Amino acid sequence: MKVPEIFGENVFNLQVMQDKLPKEVFKSLKETIDKGTPLDASIAGVVANAMKDWAVEKGATHYTHWFQPMTGITAEKHDSFISPTKDGKVIMDFSGKELVVGESDASSFPSGGVRATFEARGYTAWDPTSYAFIKDGTLCIPSTFFSYSGEVLDKKTPLLRSMRALNEQALRILRLFGNTSVKRVYPTVGAEQEYFLIDRKMYDARKDLVLSGRTLFGAKPPKGQELEDHYFGPIKLRVSAFMKELDEELWKLGIFSKTEHNEVAPSQHELAPIFTVTNLASDQNQLIMETMKKVASRHGLYCLLHEKPFKGVNGSGKHNNWSMSTDKGVNLLDPGSTPAENGQFMLFLMAVVKAVDEYQDLLRLTVTSAGNDHRLGANEAPPAIVSIYLGEELTEVIDALEHGVKYEGKTKQIMKLGVDTLPELPKDTTDRNRTSPFAFTGNKFEFRMLGSTFSIAGPNIIVNTIVADELRQFADELEKADDFNAALHDLVVRTIREHKRIIFNGNNYCAEWEKEAEKRGLLNLKNSAEALPRFADKKNIDLFARHKVFTEREVRSRMEIMLENYCKVVAIEGQTMIEMGRQDIYPAVNAYILELCKTIEHKTAVSQKLSCAAEREIVSRLSGDNEKMYAKAAEIEKLLAEAKAVADTSKQAKFFADRVLPVMEEMRAYADDMEGYTAKKYWPFPTYADILFSV
Ligand code: ADP
Ligand code: MG
Repeated sequence: MKVPEIFGENVFNLQVMQDKLPKEVFKSLKETIDKGTPLDASIAGVVANAMKDWAVEKGATHYTHWFQPMTGITAEKHDSFISPTKDGKVIMDFSGKELVVGESDASSFPSGGVRATFEARGYTAWDPTSYAFIKDGTLCIPSTFFSYSGEVLDKKTPLLRSMRALNEQALRILRLFGNTSVKRVYPTVGAEQEYFLIDRKMYDARKDLVLSGRTLFGAKPPKGQELEDHYFGPIKLRVSAFMKELDEELWKLGIFSKTEHNEVAPSQHELAPIFTVTNLASDQNQLIMETMKKVASRHGLYCLLHEKPFKGVNGSGKHNNWSMSTDKGVNLLDPGSTPAENGQFMLFLMAVVKAVDEYQDLLRLTVTSAGNDHRLGANEAPPAIVSIYLGEELTEVIDALEHGVKYEGKTKQIMKLGVDTLPELPKDTTDRNRTSPFAFTGNKFEFRMLGSTFSIAGPNIIVNTIVADELRQFADELEKADDFNAALHDLVVRTIREHKRIIFNGNNYCAEWEKEAEKRGLLNLKNSAEALPRFADKKNIDLFARHKVFTEREVRSRMEIMLENYCKVVAIEGQTMIEMGRQDIYPAVNAYILELCKTIEHKTAVSQKLSCAAEREIVSRLSGDNEKMYAKAAEIEKLLAEAKAVADTSKQAKFFADRVLPVMEEMRAYADDMEGYTAKKYWPFPTYADILFSV
């Protein structure tokens, strides 16, 4: 296979556009893509026709607006290109109007109450800044999704708005540093994706995996990740065949899939693409997740994307590497080597520090979900407390700046911004601090709290908007200054002083940090029920309104959708546990108890002297556990009914978190104990060892 030849072959990218479009049309479209200017409506027909010809040549028969409703996954509705002719035949046809807008029934997508039921109509609109592509014989057109009354119903629109806000404010800062040539600033993202790959037969045999994506029962296997022999270990043949095909599929879609390796847990792996503009990175991450599932099924495998498929085994996350780049390709979080570059770097850096401190709540809630609640704060992933890691060298520089003293690093110098150069900072390519939720890694920040199932759009909407807002405040202040360098220095020093509490370079997993963070006044929002209601705090509503990212109604609807989703997920899990407990585990254990009782009877019949101590002990233990597990199922059933009656979704989420989940854990504990005492052939589904070492 010649990679350069297949790379991007299924994408209607700039090169294809240049080849297939008349010069003027290409120029106009490129202008829209580069500068975000509105699309010239008169060219839509020409573009549509070229797109259709290209797609049909590649075997496509259908097209779809490919959009990202609030479900977190993508949606598509296929229409064929065929159009009847007078002589009863068909031609392949695709109009400009069909390319630009689509109509779609919105009533089955979550709207959090913004879409009244009598206005079921929803619309999709082509996003020309992301490339169309062919997937399974269908031309997919990346699109936004909104209601008849104009309310946004998707994740792409606010992401584009947040990118525009960041661009506006970052440009103001660059102008202050005398940069007049940059026309556009983009946030860039590289999203590392973790996942589990298990045998399809194992998956099918577990109702909990099928219905909830995670195992709701399962005793810890004798061997988990203790030996740490899986991380970066040799890749098994079946897995490497999967990875090879996955890479090929992704390359054809123009996705720079770069690194594939084994992760910490058995059967866990990671894929990292090369970073790109956030909007594209977000579309591509959706395609990566979808393609993983598809390719896995061709190999008799199943790809688990859940954040915590196995209790007691490392879960899966997504690392959102984030930075800002100019249209000239300059990374604004690269420290640079001249005093002016350093001053500018320091200002952008401080905008991020201040943003993370002031909007801990938003960062926390944008990574919360029923699935990710099992990871965050559970001693493996970053904790639930948001903090920022800058590394020792940069922290020393900041200390020196704050106190106006000598920077005692290798170069021993007093730091004066705009005058002195920063010492060379080592690039952190080795993830020296893997415990930090938001880590500076040399020329970008790595936001590590995202769950593996997440669309990266949500968290990036937040990061872009909060950084844009700090840049706005900085620009407001500096634009008024008479002595720019002095004002810059003052501003940076003041920001360090006011926000250094958010900087933490130590081990985020240890108990002392939780205490220390509390002393510093940092938030510790333990779960979705605690975090999500903060979305609608006045300061957040004001922030989104100021940058025209969300209206208040949109904030409230999104919060509602996330809370509802949390409640639904936990309810499904609870219901699944009840079924598995009653229909599978209870009868299986009783069957084994019966066998043991028969054994006792027969042994005693042979000789009264034969001991049946073990049998009796197991019967007693299993029978006790089984009764208690059965009782817990009834308790969960009652609680689920009670939860249903709670009208307010915030309160309902709290009820699920505080009352339902703990009882689910209790029920599970009895079942997991029984698993250890029940003969293997009686246990009704594959165990952790069966699943994790199946591939
Ligand atoms: P390196 O940048 O040395 O490759 P990593 O291997 O840790 O470091 O990269 C992790 C991810 O970060 C990759 O997806 C990479 O493309 C991405 N990344 C690198 N530079 C940037 C940047 N400027 N903006 C966003 N993501 C980036
Ligand atoms: Mg990394």
